Parts: sequence; C-alpha cells; structure tokens
Amino acid sequence: MNLMPLKKKSIHKESMPDPAGLYIHIPFCTRKCPYCDFYSSTGVKLIPEFLNALFSEMHLRSGSLPEYDTIYLGGGTPSLLSIHNISQIVENAYRLFNVASDAEITVEVNPGTINLDKFKGYKSAGINRINIGVQSFEDEKLKFLGRIHSSILTGGVQMLLK
Ligand code: SF4
Repeated sequence: MNLMPLKKKSIHKESMPDPAGLYIHIPFCTRKCPYCDFYSSTGVKLIPEFLNALFSEMHLRSGSLPEYDTIYLGGGTPSLLSIHNISQIVENAYRLFNVASDAEITVEVNPGTINLDKFKGYKSAGINRINIGVQSFEDEKLKFLGRIHSSILTGGVQMLLK
C-alpha cells in the first residue's frame, strides 16, 4: 500500500494539500510470467491471511490523512479476488480514509480471470475503471510470454466492455 501524494497539476488553493492516490497491491497470480519483475506469489491460499493483514494496516493508517481522489488495485492479479473481497477493500477505504465521493476506483484485470458476472460485480462494488493486462493479441506471443489467457479471451473481454 502506497500512501504518497501524487504529484499532479492542481487548481486547488495553495493552502489545500493536493489530493493523493491510494495504491493497494494485490500480490497474487495464477502463474508467474517469466518476464515479470512485479512482486507476486502463486500462493493463493494465503489470500485470506493477506486480506486480514491489509485491513489491519488500513485501520492502523486511518486518521488525518490527505483526501484521496483515486484508488488503484494493482498487482499481481487483483481480478483473482472475489467480488466480496473487492467490495470489502473499497468499503474499508471509504470508512477509514478521506476518499472523495467521486473518486476514480480502478482494478487491474487479467483476461484469464474475468467473466461478465465479475464485471457486473465490480460495478456494484464501486469500481468505475478497469485496467486490462494485455501483452499481445497473438496466441504464439502470449504462449511465449507465459500468459494464462488466449487472444480469443482477450477479444471477448474487449467485447464485454463495449
Ligand atoms: S499476471 Fe501480471 S503480475 Fe502476474 S506474473 Fe504475469 S505479468 Fe506479472
């Protein structure tokens, strides 16, 4: 979790601190892609323990923090989490931090872990922006990169979002 304020051009008055971005790293993946340097683990059994630790840390860091105008759930593969877990994270962020009511809330998704029900669930969980991890639309290259999805899945996700 990164609580550093984002450096961005702002029209806020000098006396008001710039809004910050809240980044929450979900460090789990179905399989480790050979080219990837991001921290992630395939130990998905640890997700419940990780979430308990995350909620404890969010609680410890709550209080007089800046306003957050973005929340970004990155990874790893945040789309491995259930909709219930995504809802819990968003709810805790609103409950414990000063999150703007119109905050941009993003989740990163891997096309191999997503379906229509999950997209609908994201909407009801408060997610209003999706970042799709697509390295190629060619199956040969996806196989070379060790990705868990095919170009058909990637195209299907694109269609779902239209
Ligand atoms: S799915 Fe993404 S985060 Fe996970 S190993 Fe592959 S590139 Fe890295």
